[in-house]
Amino acid sequence: MWESRYPALPEGQLRGDVFALAGELGVDVTDVQVAPQTATTTQYNAYVTGLGDHHVVVLYETLLLRSTPAEVWVVAAHELGHVAAGDGSRRALLASLGAMAMTALVGAAATSSRVRRRASTQQVRIADAPAVPMLIALTVAAGVLVLPVFDSASRAFELRADVTALQATDDPRALRSVVARSAVLYLDEPDPAWPWRLLSGHPSPVERVALAEAWAARERCPARRPHC
Ligand SMILES: [Zn+2]
Repeated sequence: MWESRYPALPEGQLRGDVFALAGELGVDVTDVQVAPQTATTTQYNAYVTGLGDHHVVVLYETLLLRSTPAEVWVVAAHELGHVAAGDGSRRALLASLGAMAMTALVGAAATSSRVRRRASTQQVRIADAPAVPMLIALTVAAGVLVLPVFDSASRAFELRADVTALQATDDPRALRSVVARSAVLYLDEPDPAWPWRLLSGHPSPVERVALAEAWAARERCPARRPHC
């Protein structure tokens, strides 16, 4: 059911490498497809869709047109790294736990006598008009407490996927250039101040480049660089 959505990437080095890496990582990939989105987006991306033993790697046509083969390869390896580590399930679990934690925090705060006095109501319920602004404020406050935990885990997932991409490609130069180009395209702050870093689900471009440079500093045999 996943095979027919977009045209398949033609047979070639990249397609073969994606299947080979998926096999190494234990990810069952049934197809590599190209999303023809040049007319609707300038986004520069790839993703893996599917469940169980049916995964499809989808590469944006924009990625293929604007990148070197080495850059496409590092992006595909990053996405396969997420699937191999089960990051989709981990994110869903964390989001559920975060929602429960926020609900518990709001519930606990809303039943405190001080909050009820401030809201000028006996019970803080969504049906009570005076309580609505207080409930909104409590929800925002709970989000400020809970979201950094979720975002911290998300940043760790992203850095791990970058490490998987570096292990697969041994091409830190390609990763660095993908990060730099994405930062320009998405207007990312290269090195945001700590409050923004805390609330970001992705490591900053500077952190990702630092990882690539640390990898480049290692003395390793470049035997696995088919696209360099
Ligand atoms: Zn990622």
